[in-house]
Amino acid sequence: MKILIAEDDLLSRKMLESILSKLGYEVLAVDSGSKAWDILNSESSPQIAILDWMMPGMDGPEVCSKIRQRESGIDQYTYIILLTAKTEKKDLIAGMESGADDYISKPFDTHELGVRVRAGQRVIELQNQLRNEKEKHLILSMTDGLTGILNRRALYEALEREILRAGRERTPLSIIMLDIDFFKKINDGHGHNTGDVVLKELVRRILAELRPYDTFGRYGGEEFIVLLPGAYMYEVLAVSERIRGAIRNTPFDVGTACLPVTASFGVAEFDFKENSDALIKRADVALYKAKKNGRDRIEN
Ligand SMILES: [Mg+2]
Repeated sequence: MKILIAEDDLLSRKMLESILSKLGYEVLAVDSGSKAWDILNSESSPQIAILDWMMPGMDGPEVCSKIRQRESGIDQYTYIILLTAKTEKKDLIAGMESGADDYISKPFDTHELGVRVRAGQRVIELQNQLRNEKEKHLILSMTDGLTGILNRRALYEALEREILRAGRERTPLSIIMLDIDFFKKINDGHGHNTGDVVLKELVRRILAELRPYDTFGRYGGEEFIVLLPGAYMYEVLAVSERIRGAIRNTPFDVGTACLPVTASFGVAEFDFKENSDALIKRADVALYKAKKNGRDRIEN
C-alpha cells in the first residue's frame, strides 16, 4: 500500500521514510503541504497520508480540509495522520477538526507509528471492500440474472436518459420490443432449463447485431427491448430484420436437440411530444399486431 509523507524537517522525513519502507509500504515523501496536495489531488493518490502539522506554505490541517472537501464529490477516502510537535498539542482539537483521522506526537516512537499506520490501513481496506461491494451490488441490481443484460428497472432508467438526450440533441430515438414466439411450448416441451438456454442464446445473437451504444434489456419473461439512439424508423426496421434473421435462420442448439426459434417485433420511433410510457405502449401495440398477423414478423 502507498503512503504519502509530507514533512519539512529532513531528519524526521528520512526516518519516517525508512521506518515505513521497512514495514513494507511504498513511500512517497515530499517536503511541503502544497506538494502533498498536488499528489493527493491526483488520479492515483495514496490512500494514507502522514502530514506534518507545521510546514511552510500550506500546513497539515489545511491540506487535510482540502482533501475532505474534494472527497465529498468522489468515492475514495484518504486516511490522514497529523504529525505534531509537543508544543502544538494544545491545538490538537483544531487539527483534528480539519478532518484528520489520527495524530502522532514528535519525537515519534517507531512501534507506535507502525501500529497507527496499520490501523489506518485497516480502515482503508474496509473502505475499499465496501466500495467494491457497493459496485457489485449496483451492477447486480441493474442486470438480469440469467442473461446478464439490463433488467426491466434499468431499462426504464436508460429509456428516460435516452429520451432526455434525444430531446436535448434533437436526434431520433427508436425502440424495438420483441418477444419469442411460442416460448411456452419450448418450456413445456423441453423443460425450463432448455428455455433458459434459448434465452441466453437469443441474447447472444441479438448482441452481435447491436452497436456499442444501443441499450438492450430483458423486459419480462421472453420479452426484450432494444433502444437505438440516433436511429430513424427505416434504420430500426433494418436492424430488426437482421435480428429476426439471426434468430430464425439457424436453429438453436440446446444440447439434446436443435430447436427452430422465431420472434415477433414491434418497433416505434420516439415522438418528442410523448413520454416513455407512451413510447413503450406504441411498441407494445405494434408487437401485438405482429403476433396477430402471424408471428416471425416486424410491425410498426
Ligand atoms: Mg514542520
